[in-house]
Amino acid sequence: MIRGQLDSLAIPAHGTPKTGCTTPPVLRERGQREVFCGLTGIMWLHRKIQDAFFLIVGSRTCAHLMQSAAGVMIFAEPRFATAIIDDRDLAGLADANEELDRVVMRLLERRPDIKLLFLVGSCPSEVIKLDLSRAARRLSEQMHPAVRVLNYSGSGIETTFTQGEDACLAALVPTLPEAPAGEASLMVVGVLADAVEDQFRRLLAAMGIEKVSFLPARRAHEMPALGASTRYILVQPFLTDTAMKLEQRGAKRIEAPFPLGAQGMFGWLEAVAKAYGVSPLTLENITRAPMERANRAVSRYRDTLAGRRIFFFPDSQLEVPIARFLANELGMNLIEVGTPYLHRQHLAADLAMLPQGTQLSEGQDVDRQLDRCRKSDPDLVVCGLGLANPLEAEGITTKWAIELVFTPIQGFEQAGDLAELFARPLVRRARLEM
Ligand code: SF4
Repeated sequence: MIRGQLDSLAIPAHGTPKTGCTTPPVLRERGQREVFCGLTGIMWLHRKIQDAFFLIVGSRTCAHLMQSAAGVMIFAEPRFATAIIDDRDLAGLADANEELDRVVMRLLERRPDIKLLFLVGSCPSEVIKLDLSRAARRLSEQMHPAVRVLNYSGSGIETTFTQGEDACLAALVPTLPEAPAGEASLMVVGVLADAVEDQFRRLLAAMGIEKVSFLPARRAHEMPALGASTRYILVQPFLTDTAMKLEQRGAKRIEAPFPLGAQGMFGWLEAVAKAYGVSPLTLENITRAPMERANRAVSRYRDTLAGRRIFFFPDSQLEVPIARFLANELGMNLIEVGTPYLHRQHLAADLAMLPQGTQLSEGQDVDRQLDRCRKSDPDLVVCGLGLANPLEAEGITTKWAIELVFTPIQGFEQAGDLAELFARPLVRRARLEM
């Protein structure tokens, strides 16, 4: 939790779209926040990059956080650990760099399957100013070519939990090979479950787009090439730094809504189709059957969710596209859509699809927001774990935002599962009240 000055401001959003909610004022808040740190991202990153290892350079608190987060993932083979910074390191009595080198060497001797090692910074490593980028360079030189060592920060100082993925992918971008000049390709950016990635690849191939890569790739040596002829499209709205690094290397972003729900997935494919000159008829033919399946799956939850009032606390940075899905495809009423950061360019298409007059808030002053939430008497609140228990104790039904990154939710085939995530707590509450 970060304590800061209280200053809530109503600031008009930029841009002048014809429809949607980018014109109403956005409540911008800077106060105490309730968020998880970026270490959490290791939970889904380590499953995606199958020969990577994440070594957190942190405290016992960091190790406990990872253990409790990992405890709910019974099917994962852990490929992460914490190198504990102890009192001697903090007091400057030990050379933390020497100790880190020793830990890394021991780890790599025991685990020859590791091809990519991330040194993940934490609050304690930042407090003692341990330079992990230098450590990563030094170790990478020693281990080259067998292992590449990179670093990023998962520290909880001024971050949200999804920024861990952004920081990790941003660290990867400078290491991507240069694509041959003039070789056009499409890069899909952001972690997707493997099954979802396969679905996306099939749909893009059906549109005639074969030269497609995914960042991150499933294996260290399969990371995609990048160059001035690369177009990239995001599947997660929290990849600000990654996008910046890609553009520094010449890649160009395809602007699209995020692929959540039938409408979002169609809009995402439509944006690719336009960029690649695929005809509307071809797009319609390819998407008709999966769209129908998605609409059917979503409609099963409409009775439970239509007309219900939902309040979003800022947490995952997925709030805007999820709110768009819940309002447009399930008929939910949006009371307030809070998000930690509102990236207006990346979210432009989703913002334009939100119902007119949607109240957005950016940042957090948790006490004020809790007051607004209680006063609005919502049917469902989307929030982090820290707020969920106290709100449940007050009789308010909640949905943990973190489930949105632990569950495959992108694409046509997952639209029903996404709707179900929001219906489940309401159904559970109704059963308890019977
Ligand atoms: S990185 Fe910081 S916020 Fe995260 S678990 Fe470690 S000490 Fe806590």
